[in-house]
This record gives sequence, structure tokens and C-alpha cells, in this order.
Amino acid sequence: MKRRLITSALPYVNNVPHLGNLIQVLSADVFARFCRLRGYETLYICGTDEYGTATETKAAEDGISPRELCDRYFKVHDDIYRWFNIAFDIFGRTSTPVHTEVTQGIFNKLDAHGFISEQVIEQLYCSGCERFLADRYVRGLCPACSSGNARGDQCEDCGKLLDPTELKDPKCTICASTPKLEKTKHLYINLPKLKDRLELWLKEASSVGHWARNAVQMSQAWIRDGLRERAITRDLKWGIPVPKAGYENKVFYVWFDACIGYISLTGNLGEERGGDWRNFVDYWWKSPEETLLFQFIGKDNIPFHTVIFPSSLLGSGDKWTMLHHMSSSEYLNYESGKFSKSRGVGVFGTDVMETGIPADVWRFYIFYNRPEKSDYLFTWKDFQDKVNSELIGNLGNLVNRTLSFVNRYYEGKIPAAEDGADDEFWKTVTMYEDKVTTALDRAELKDAFHHVFELSSFANKTFQEAEPWKKIQEEPAAAASIIRNLTYIVRDIAILIEPYMPQAAEQIVSFFGLSFGKDLVYTKGPEKISWDDLGKTKGIERVVKSEVLFAKLEDKAIAELRNRFSGNLKDRSAD
Ligand SMILES: [Zn+2]
Ligand SMILES: [Zn+2]
Repeated sequence: MKRRLITSALPYVNNVPHLGNLIQVLSADVFARFCRLRGYETLYICGTDEYGTATETKAAEDGISPRELCDRYFKVHDDIYRWFNIAFDIFGRTSTPVHTEVTQGIFNKLDAHGFISEQVIEQLYCSGCERFLADRYVRGLCPACSSGNARGDQCEDCGKLLDPTELKDPKCTICASTPKLEKTKHLYINLPKLKDRLELWLKEASSVGHWARNAVQMSQAWIRDGLRERAITRDLKWGIPVPKAGYENKVFYVWFDACIGYISLTGNLGEERGGDWRNFVDYWWKSPEETLLFQFIGKDNIPFHTVIFPSSLLGSGDKWTMLHHMSSSEYLNYESGKFSKSRGVGVFGTDVMETGIPADVWRFYIFYNRPEKSDYLFTWKDFQDKVNSELIGNLGNLVNRTLSFVNRYYEGKIPAAEDGADDEFWKTVTMYEDKVTTALDRAELKDAFHHVFELSSFANKTFQEAEPWKKIQEEPAAAASIIRNLTYIVRDIAILIEPYMPQAAEQIVSFFGLSFGKDLVYTKGPEKISWDDLGKTKGIERVVKSEVLFAKLEDKAIAELRNRFSGNLKDRSAD
């Protein structure tokens, strides 16, 4: 059994994540929880991506240091993910000494193997600040619409993408003096030189790891059209120093170091656990024969994970654990328009925590509708319908009616079964359970989840048709068999939903006096209940308590929520 190394795209630090952003961290969590329950040696790595212009400029606007800004937002992210019960092995940050060491190490190897080149370009220089200005440090008149709101990278009014040298009447945003064009040098990674190696790897990896077709196509298109030399240095202060003479005032471009963050965050975890973190990194990241790497990202991030990051690893000459399977989700859209961090449209992590609706209900909705092959539209009505009909009407109902029956007719003791009476029944159950396992093994999270609800429907149908409330008088042995089987299905469903709804799963097994045997958050196995228990009708004796799992979403509450989240985040927090 190979180890499972799991990552989700590192969220950029300086914003509050919305539901659409949460899909990736949650998806990787579901997969990691499944792998742990299944008995794989598993590591789930994530953290905030902290360097770059966006952080530096936002910090300047707020009058604080980039470090302070990152501290503030790291906490926002961390709180939200804890609330959602995401069981990271580490949720760290990229602004650490380990990250600097790992990034510089990979750069040095790329340089030594001849994949780094130097180019002289003309760039705006501010003599007031004595520095070259990164795009966002220049403002001026837009050459297209003449608005005065144009930044070096884009016009804020007409949206045109710009190069800072195109701006009319450019000004330094720091000191307002007029910058002049001067020559400067930057470092580039020579991707064309890595093309053959990359193509060979991509062909093999995409077929072995069952990549989605959109990922394969996008990567091939990128190699065909986009494989040029790319600048990896920038004129900023908030970033990783470039370990090369002549580059003392520059740092690495954030796209170069962001993916390397997966490796350095693993190093931070090694530090936490004691011993040499480098050995811990090697154990996971330099073990391609023993480890499978699964990465969960949004579709806009595909080329960074299939082309750019692999190129850095291949060019370094070391034997890295490379991408095995990539799960790239589509977008979740919001009823009144696209989710947008910059415009504040949608339901944000901080909002979700205030709705009074438990984390598992959100997790249910996200995975029941996970945007895998196409985008999905979030509406409050759909949220209410799916929760009330499937989560409560199907799954919640099965748990409730089965355990109530045991309490009412058997005084809480699980009845014994007739011999061989239930072979056909268990054949069907096993068929559903195998479908869930097979789909989860391939990280097909939505399909697997739907099979759980199919199993629950089948169990409800069995209950309905068998009419045990009548049978208990006429054929008590048959009634006992049915109830015993249904009780074990309830236990099995708790196992099957643990990756998706960990609190509900723990609550269900607690009705039998059992536990998954761990904290629900930031945890490491081993569990008392495992995936191997599925389909085995032993291990539970009694129903020790039972409660209603989920509260129905009423029209009035949903109408209030729709109203409350109709504006944008800024307006809402101003209230
Ligand atoms: Zn414009
Ligand atoms: Zn200046």
C-alpha cells in the first residue's frame, strides 16, 4: 500500500475565502479522511500563500507591514477551516525560513543544471524611492480609455490588461514622482529547454493517474502555446531573497515559490514533530516509488500544477514524488452572480459560521453538488431542497426510524438474525458499498457520495416494504433479522459518510456507544472503527441513545439568509 500525500491549493492569504474557494480544502479533506479510515499512511498538507505584490500593496494601503497583514488573515483562514472540521496534518504558512531554504535550494539546482537564464529588460525606475517599480507600484492614465485609475498591470475602469510602460503620465504610487525607463536584469526559468522531459512525464503521469480530460487538454495546450521563458524574479521586498549576486534587491516571483510551498510546509510539519525536517521532507517528497501525490485544485490553477511546478522539479535533477492524480474542480456560482472575492459577492467562510447551520450541512451540500464536470449554481432554494429531501428525508430518516424501532420494540438491544435470511440483502448492500470505495479510491468524491444516498434509499425502501411494525406480531424472527440488518447499515453509513460529515458520523456511532476514536480536527489516526468494518454484522450490542441528526431548514430562515447575503461583504460588515 503506497503512502498518500495530499495537498489542496494554497489559499492566497489576503482575503476571506468564500464557499467556492472552500471546495478545494474540503475536497482534499474528504479524500484524506477516507485514506486514513482505509488504513493508508496519509499526509494532508496546506497553508496560506503569503508572498507577492497583492500582499505588499494591501499592507501599504492598510498602513501595516506585510507580516502583520499575513498574521491577521492567516487567523481568518485558520478559524474558518477549523470551524469546517478540516483535518489537516498541517495548516501552515509560506513565509517561513524553511520555505526560503527549500525554494532557494530548488532554484540553485535549476541554475546549476542550466535552466535559469538572465535577460536585460527596460523597466520603470523611481529615483525618489531608489527602486525599480513592480507593475502595481505604477499608476497613470489608461492608454485605452484615458481614465486616471489605471495601474501598471490593468486599468481599473475599462479592465484592459496593461504593461506599466504603456501608461501615460506614469507616477510612482509610493512617492508620486515620475519614474523613468531604465535597464535592469531579471532571471527566467527556461521552460522550452525542459519541454521534452516534461512531455514524456506528462504523457505517463496523466494516464497512470487518470487525470480528467480537461486537465490533459489544458496542459497540452499550454505546452504547445505557452511554453516560453518565464521571469521568476520581481522588484519587491515581501518575498524570498534571490541567492545570486546582482539580485540583492529582488525577490522570487510568487508563482515560482507558491507550489514549492507544499514541500516546505511538509518540512514545517517535520519540525513540529521533532528530528531533522529534511529527512521528513525526503520521506514524503523524494520517494516516488512509495508515495502517491494527490493534488486538489480549481481549474484555473491547472497549468501551475501540471506544467510549471513539475518543470521546476524535473529541472532540479532530484528524484521527486511527482503529481499522481489531480482533482481539478469547476466553479461554484452564486445565485446573484459569480462568487467574487474582490467584489465581495457570495457566501463567505465568516458568513457561514454565523448562519447557525452546522458545518456538516454545508459539507453535505458542497459534496452532493460538487462542481466536477461543469459549474454548479448555488441557490438558497436548492440548498434548502437538497438538505430537507436527501440529508434529512433520506439519510436522517433511516437512522431515526431504525434506532427508534430498536428502542421501542427491543428495549435498545440489537436483535439476533435468522441464519441465511439476509444473503440477498447483503449482496445488494455490498454492491453499493463497493461502488463507494471504488469511486473514493479514484477521488471521485461526488459519485461516491451519491452511492451512499442510494444505499440509504435502498435501506429505507426495505424498511417500508417489510413493514416490521406488522411483522413483529406475525413473524417476529423475520422482523428481528430486518431490524438487525438495518441497524448495521446505519453503522456502515456512519463509516461511509465520515469523510464527508465527520461530526454526524461520530454522532451516529455514539448512538451505539462507539467512537471513531479521535479528535475531529487536526488529527492523526488510528481509528477504532475503520473502512474494513463495512458489511460485517458484528461489533454493536445496543442503542445507548438516539437524537435527531439535523434540523429541517424552514422557509422563513432561508428567506432571511437569502436577504442577509444579497449585498456584498463590505456593505454587510458596515451594518
Ligand atoms: Zn482604461
Ligand atoms: Zn517612488
